Amino acid sequence: MQFLGGNRRKLRLADDQRNACYPHSLLFYLQPPSGNISLIEFENLAIDRVKLLKAVKNLGVSYVKGTEQYQSKLEAELRKLKFSYRENLEDEYEPRRRDHDIVASSHSLGGVQLESVYKSPFADALDLFRGRKVYWENGFAYVQLKDIVAIILNEFRTKLSKVLALTARSLPAVQSGERLQPLLSHLSHLYTGRDYSTQANVGKVSLDQIDSLSTKSFPPCIDQLHKALRENHHLRHGGLMQYGLFLKDIGLTLEQAWQFWKQSFIRGKMDPDKFDKGYSYNIRHSFGKEGKRTDYTLYSCLKIILTNPRSQGDYHGCPFWHSDPELLRQKMQAYKIPPSGINQILDLVKGTHYQVACQKFFKMTHNVDDCVFSLSHPKFFFESQQILSGGKDIKKESIQPETPQPKPSVQRSKDVSSALASLISSLEMDLEGLEE
Ligand code: SF4
Repeated sequence: MQFLGGNRRKLRLADDQRNACYPHSLLFYLQPPSGNISLIEFENLAIDRVKLLKAVKNLGVSYVKGTEQYQSKLEAELRKLKFSYRENLEDEYEPRRRDHDIVASSHSLGGVQLESVYKSPFADALDLFRGRKVYWENGFAYVQLKDIVAIILNEFRTKLSKVLALTARSLPAVQSGERLQPLLSHLSHLYTGRDYSTQANVGKVSLDQIDSLSTKSFPPCIDQLHKALRENHHLRHGGLMQYGLFLKDIGLTLEQAWQFWKQSFIRGKMDPDKFDKGYSYNIRHSFGKEGKRTDYTLYSCLKIILTNPRSQGDYHGCPFWHSDPELLRQKMQAYKIPPSGINQILDLVKGTHYQVACQKFFKMTHNVDDCVFSLSHPKFFFESQQILSGGKDIKKESIQPETPQPKPSVQRSKDVSSALASLISSLEMDLEGLEE
């Protein structure tokens, strides 16, 4: 791109040699890092990046993207983690260097900024041309500042895909490296927030706590399953899976889960033997004790919302997605949400922001102004417990189970490829954030 008239905004390059290495906030990662870096610094940079990606993901769930609130929260996170995000910071060298994991970058846009219009090769601005957003002449598109991000994003996406593909080819060399391999292998497990893993919670909830916990701390999707179970003493497969995996994730042992379901079902008309024959296998299966011995984890909100449609007699799913507005209003009234709050929730649902609506519900039922956590059932539950207990953990169960607890399944070790895959998916998420 070329600069066209107007007032040039000069980057501060001349008087600071260090900033010359990183002339722009947005890096295209075209050159591999060439400087020296200690393993400790490398690890810290990687953790910071994972933290940032996590923060972007959380914000996307808590706030509607593109809103002022989302933007200011995002900038606050970027500042907090010392990532580069604006060109006019006092000293941008360090943040930009950190963003590159780590040395000089040169991107090839070659663009010099105009005050309000950029001249760009026509081929780079096809999307904008289709939307009639550019003026074009002699093979060049003239793009307004507000639209330039679409071109930069395309460029960034293309170049990033290319360098990730090249990076993937280098994996065998990395895997054989004794120093880097263990670090990369464990990167995805490094602690970047509260530990919600099943293993950390096993045995912390007792069966007699479940009724009271359901009213206080279960997310609405699970609460509706619990209510249906108490009322009908039965749940169909979709509900059994969604609720069963939730109970497992908040820490019920296999033995407890088996007791819970058996007691619930035989309160209806089910014969205990019939329960043993019909359901024991399924319960053991979900704990990875039968069949392929997969240690199933609970469904994500997205999976609940997008898959497994409901039919008559089903109670699984997400109330924010599966309930019609009037029914949802009634449900929210039952939780004593004030009318203005219900309207806000319904507006978010109307805009298809189901998880943001759930966050709103959380804030209102827990009387908190802010909660920034990526929403999922156990997180809803544990954050709720944290707030209700004034920061203390759930009380440890005092009664030991009658039979030995199953050993926590061994965490599958991930190889470098899966670590890279998770980084790539994080980067894709990053791109979505940028797009916004
Ligand atoms: Fe449950 Fe997620 Fe829906 Fe909330 S958004 S009700 S946690 S599925």
